[in-house]
Amino acid sequence: MKCPKCKDSALHAKQMDEQFAAQECERCGGDWILVEDFVQWRENNPGFEFAKNVDVEEDEILDSQNALLCPRTGTFMRKFRIAAQNAHRLDYSAAVGGIWLDNGEWELLKKEGIAGQLNEILTNKWQQAVRESMSKEQFALIYSRKFGETDYQKVRDIRGWIDSHPAKADLRAYLFAEDPYSAER
Ligand SMILES: [Zn+2]
Repeated sequence: MKCPKCKDSALHAKQMDEQFAAQECERCGGDWILVEDFVQWRENNPGFEFAKNVDVEEDEILDSQNALLCPRTGTFMRKFRIAAQNAHRLDYSAAVGGIWLDNGEWELLKKEGIAGQLNEILTNKWQQAVRESMSKEQFALIYSRKFGETDYQKVRDIRGWIDSHPAKADLRAYLFAEDPYSAER
């Protein structure tokens, strides 16, 4: 099998952190992992946690922007965003259940504390959570630009205070009434 990124470089068998089987491209350092290998290892090692203190800088991590072809079938692989807080995506061939990690992405997964959940990244549940979290961050950005950072923080504090107040409905009515000291509404 050839590397999906370098195309002419062969993949060689390796063990990921001495835990489960994978194949590596020695030229670009990317890893090819079969989900079934990972899941089987996970089932046999349910309590195992990968160390999070990984020494890797963001600019050392590659992320293929163009679509890659599955090294086994030659068909396009799909990209799955791993988290809302960074833009890295892993490539997945559904046809063979294979994951391609660019050089440094395994370290990134460990750093984010999600290396042990590699297979879950491919689920709808995970992807939906990433999308929801991303849209929340976008709203936060919009509000912060609109109000200014200080006032946005202030209005968030007020909102939090109202939401946790036992008389929150009355507080809201007071706040939004044209004149809270009049019987008219
Ligand atoms: Zn390569």
